[in-house]
Amino acid sequence: AKAAGKNQVAVFDYTLRAARLHHAEIAAGLRQALAAEELTLAYQPVVNLTTGAVYAVEALLRWTPSGGRRVPPDVFIPVAEDTGLIVEIGRWALEQACAQAKQWHRRYGIAVTVNVSGRQLRERSFRDTVLEILTRHALPRNALTLEVTESMLLATSPAETQRIVAVLADLRAHGVRIALDDFGTGYSSLAYLRTLPVDILKIDRSFTTPLTGADHRQARAFTKAIVELAAGLDLATVVEGVESREQAGILQQMGCPLAQGYLFSPPISPAEVDDLLQVSPWQ
Ligand code: C2E
Ligand code: CA
Ligand code: CA
Ligand code: CA
Repeated sequence: AKAAGKNQVAVFDYTLRAARLHHAEIAAGLRQALAAEELTLAYQPVVNLTTGAVYAVEALLRWTPSGGRRVPPDVFIPVAEDTGLIVEIGRWALEQACAQAKQWHRRYGIAVTVNVSGRQLRERSFRDTVLEILTRHALPRNALTLEVTESMLLATSPAETQRIVAVLADLRAHGVRIALDDFGTGYSSLAYLRTLPVDILKIDRSFTTPLTGADHRQARAFTKAIVELAAGLDLATVVEGVESREQAGILQQMGCPLAQGYLFSPPISPAEVDDLLQVSPWQ
């Protein structure tokens, strides 16, 4: 048992060291990714479940180091957050999304949604940066939705949380919409929702898969309750990770207005968004 224990420690150390190396390598690569134009945005449609029309597109970062393989956001975003690089990268993403979304909004009335990290949100200049970018691109403020998570609102001191909530409320008063991302994965009590400056709830994918699973009765009751509560609070709901027609049908019956997932479209390039908006395949 002692030998086995020793082995476990050795293995653990090794993995930890590998993880650190990996982290340093990613950080070094990321530091030059912006200048080397290795970052792009893909866009995933959010659709109206009843009409099939595209309601918005979510901007999602893509990083392909030159001469290398694409690194998934779940791997590089945490490193960008640790190193603080997310502030610059996030500003670039906001800028790029507003520039690209301008045509889509003018022609089709479609909003663009941009993910914001906690680190970005805590920057003192965040509010001014957002409003400045919107003004410079002459994009109506309601054409932008910012996606934040409950954990980033809570993972700080109460005073700092209050300040961030005030910044979001201020942006919202200016017309920018706020979406609460990955809803249901945090610790929030539903009552807490009333105090947050939020327009849209994005129900996490972990609620979608069980809708057609073994415990589907319970899963459906749960999702239905969230959708109804949100409607009662005048919030829209987007269900994430919809992969089958069966799931889409169940959600539509529950009165869920909006959905996103591979059933409708994976994240696609801006040119593909142009094509898709022209043909509107779900009408
Ligand atoms: P998220 O904001 O929850 O984005 C949804 C993720 O689910 C995306 O992964 C999307 O490609 C994936 N997805 C969409 N539909 C389906 C489906 O039907 N099935 C499955 N299995 N997955 C689906 P992606 O693009 O790899 O992004 C992962 C995460 O990285 C995002 O999760 C977000 O937290 C973060 N991220 C991406 N772009 C940005 C960004 O610009 N800024 C910040 N701060 N975070 C970002
Ligand atoms: Ca998101
Ligand atoms: Ca999400
Ligand atoms: Ca997520």
